[in-house]
Amino acid sequence: MKSFELAQPRTLDEAVAASGGSFIESRHLAGGTDLLATIKERVETPERLVNLKGIPGLRSIEVTPEATIIGALATHSEVAEHAGIAKHHPAFVETILKCATPQVRNAATIGGGLCQRPRCWYFRHPDYTCKKKGGATCYAQEGENEFHTIFDNGTCCAVHASNLAPVLLAYDAVLTVRGPAGTREVTMDAFFVDPDKNVMVENILAPNELITHVTIPAAARGMGESYVEVREKQSFDWALVGSTVLLDMQGASVKSARVVLSAVAPRPLRLPAVEKLLLGKPSEKAISKACDKAVEGATPLEHNGYKLALVKATLRRAVATALERGRKG
Ligand SMILES: Cc1cc2nc3c(=O)[nH]c(=O)nc-3n(C[C@H](O)[C@H](O)[C@H](O)COP(=O)(O)OP(=O)(O)OC[C@H]3O[C@@H](n4cnc5c(N)ncnc54)[C@H](O)[C@@H]3O)c2cc1C
Ligand code: SF4
Repeated sequence: MKSFELAQPRTLDEAVAASGGSFIESRHLAGGTDLLATIKERVETPERLVNLKGIPGLRSIEVTPEATIIGALATHSEVAEHAGIAKHHPAFVETILKCATPQVRNAATIGGGLCQRPRCWYFRHPDYTCKKKGGATCYAQEGENEFHTIFDNGTCCAVHASNLAPVLLAYDAVLTVRGPAGTREVTMDAFFVDPDKNVMVENILAPNELITHVTIPAAARGMGESYVEVREKQSFDWALVGSTVLLDMQGASVKSARVVLSAVAPRPLRLPAVEKLLLGKPSEKAISKACDKAVEGATPLEHNGYKLALVKATLRRAVATALERGRKG
């Protein structure tokens, strides 16, 4: 492990001032469950860690009639165990409880979960300088790619690893970001960076910007919600494929729908064309059509064609559960 300085800011301004202009100069440290692993694996070699944990006010969870506001340092466990979150955002709790282990969830923060680096084994191996680490080759495209993308796999086929990101995209959540120019709001849709734009990063944060809060608008409440994932191991594992479905229901009728797939593309994949097929009173035939539509345009790699069936299966189950929950109100 390369040695590094540790900055211990007590305010957001101090954290921004301690942050450098590149990810080599500094990285923000939250729970450390991902960052310290990448440093030990020599995948990341920052000169300074800026520890966010001493900054007050970043761990709060507030559920109001207008919105739910979660501090970036709230842990996965704190969010999942919050009664207001369980009541208003059940799919969020479902996705968190499928993430990692209880021990990891006790340390892992919401900000860190959104900003975790990809799990691609070539990226995580110190001896492979792939495109994401500034090299010229994507080793997964011709190599071991069973856990990789089935959409948008031209430049880098690592999937977005976060369980939180898809459901927060479905909720239309907004991130509050602090940097040298002050505070700005970033919608979840605008947060992700596609590999063909910049393969070295997964999101729009500059090295000296940090997430302070996540806001979920209240409009997302009262829906039939569901998150279904399939993974290789049941104890702890990242999703092979996941489906988030939010259905805004009036009686048995779907007024609007949100469908987001996890672990199939470099970003959580929202599917507006599938959402349209679920409007009204979707029949079994309409749901089957929606499931077929969800894999339209997929370009699976040599070893991950099985994900097509998993998309259809998780989506079908998530729609059925969301419909049932939505009908009950
Ligand atoms: C055994 C195991 C199983 C796991 N399984 C899953 C899983 O199933 N699903 C899943 O989604 N994840 C899984 N994870 C990953 C886990 O969710 C992440 O390690 C964790 O969420 C990272 O949060 P952290 O607070 O520890 O972040 P850190 O490790 O401290 O930081 C991670 C990254 O985020 C950046 N960062 C942290 N906070 C901020 C902020 N506020 N603003 C800007 N940048 C920030 C850091 O600079 C760093 O680049 C697993 C991890 C382990 C160890
Ligand atoms: S999929 Fe991305 S992270 Fe993995 S080897 Fe290819 S370029 Fe690197």
